[in-house]
Amino acid sequence: MPRVKDQAFIISKTDFGESDLIITLFSLSRGRVSAIGKGAKRSRRRFPGSLEIFSRVAFSGFIKHPLALTRIDECLLLEPYLGLQESLRCFYSGCYFLEIVNRCSPERQANPELFKLLDEIFAFLAGGGRQSNFNCRIRLFELQMIALMGFKPRLDLCLDCHGELPQRNGLFFSPRAGGLVCDRCQVRHPAAFRVSRGTVSLLNQAHRLDCDLREKLNFTPRVEQESAQLCRALLRWHSGCDFKSLKIMESHDRPRRGLDRQREWNLGDEAGARNR
Ligand SMILES: [Zn+2]
Repeated sequence: MPRVKDQAFIISKTDFGESDLIITLFSLSRGRVSAIGKGAKRSRRRFPGSLEIFSRVAFSGFIKHPLALTRIDECLLLEPYLGLQESLRCFYSGCYFLEIVNRCSPERQANPELFKLLDEIFAFLAGGGRQSNFNCRIRLFELQMIALMGFKPRLDLCLDCHGELPQRNGLFFSPRAGGLVCDRCQVRHPAAFRVSRGTVSLLNQAHRLDCDLREKLNFTPRVEQESAQLCRALLRWHSGCDFKSLKIMESHDRPRRGLDRQREWNLGDEAGARNR
């Protein structure tokens, strides 16, 4: 029976019988896997506080059959990312990234780069999310994750007629095509929506940004809104469902957006006053 020793992030856990747990993990060597934690509800010695979502753990166990549940004997906590639970927007953003991995990454397929990115995202969120460019950082992480799962959008030509894209307006993003279509072809893509040239240029450069630039970059409200719409439409297309965490996150964001709008309004007023 092959023994398994690996690292993983805990995606979810559910009760199974009196003392066991069914655990979904994103592991370094096998990607997303389902496992059974034998006696996990009772044994504090073999599972010492290590099964909370977001935690990075080291586990050992065995696999009876390649398609069977991995059986976990022991699971040790490496990094709990406790700070991630202290702010609602960090917590729900973390849930959203776990949900992307859970819904869109194939089962039993290793993706070490995605594992590394998840570690980076949780470390960022555990910092409390007080950065002024928080939403921009989340968009960049979303884009990186999409690319690492093989859904990177094509933004350099019309994916329908394969012609050149218009230089200014008339760019549409089609989730079904996985990229842009021109204004002539968009009628054949009912779910396509308009995106600005500014957003497209920024997204084209996003994957080339180094760490320093990522930490400083901020999107305009329009680029932020369009890139969020684009990422989410793409993920919805690939997963075939709406994301629960996103709905909760959006409802939680609403009052803050109201405040942002109010701030924009005030700033506009000040600029107006200066020009008068
Ligand atoms: Zn076209």
